[in-house]
Amino acid sequence: MVRIEGLRKSFGSLEVLRDINLDIMPGQVVTIIGASGSGKSTLLRCINLLETPDAGHVWFHGADLAAEHVDVNSLREKIGMVFQGFNLFNNMNVLDNCTLAPVTLKKMSKSEAERVAMGHLESVGLADFAHANVSNLSGGQKQRVAIARALCMKPEIMLFDEPTSALDPEIVGEVLEVMRKLAADGMTMVVVTHEMAFAKNVSDEVVFMDRGVIAEAGAPRDMFTAPKQQRTREFLSRYL
Ligand code: ATP
Ligand code: MG
Repeated sequence: MVRIEGLRKSFGSLEVLRDINLDIMPGQVVTIIGASGSGKSTLLRCINLLETPDAGHVWFHGADLAAEHVDVNSLREKIGMVFQGFNLFNNMNVLDNCTLAPVTLKKMSKSEAERVAMGHLESVGLADFAHANVSNLSGGQKQRVAIARALCMKPEIMLFDEPTSALDPEIVGEVLEVMRKLAADGMTMVVVTHEMAFAKNVSDEVVFMDRGVIAEAGAPRDMFTAPKQQRTREFLSRYL
């Protein structure tokens, strides 16, 4: 579904991504792990063109995103993104957060958008909060709204950038559970996370990034039980 080839990105003299190659298949859950500053967010942001690569290619369904004629807006409609900081509209209620983009960007009727949104709010366990103000919700509830909101655009792939890092430990689980269900339903997902249990138990492939390169990638059972690289072992040992 997504093919990343020879991707490079620098900020000034800082090379943040150095020759990244990665394939993401339909229905696959890929987790990206690695130390702070290793380039995880930048890689994710290159997939939906929040960052413009300096070199290399990102292909989405065989279309090169670097091509001049790529319609960035329609591309972003197909790629859902969930951030650490929720990025919700705090002055709106939960339902309006979910229907805004479908109504304005997809020209969906308000009633249809609300029907779709209620379905997704139901699946993240927040149907009863549809008319609540976002600012009154807990962090875990906000993140579940953010996931439901992204799903309302009927994305083909969901990108998560440390979705649980801003949450209190006791509510991390409720968000991971929603993500686990989404994965089980067959959603294609790329998840940057420090939740090693999620990476181990839910993902099909784990990608370990180190200073701008993919140092090691593979099935979780291999990565977590028999990492090949010394730097992978060192990184993982911090989580034991
Ligand atoms: P973290 O775990 O802390 O989120 P990360 O692996 O996601 O780290 P990135 O956010 O991709 O890392 O950043 C990689 C490097 O690029 C960092 O040194 C960061 O300071 C730098 N960087 C990221 N975005 C920019 C930017 N817009 N301008 C300048 N430097 C940037
Ligand atoms: Mg990051």
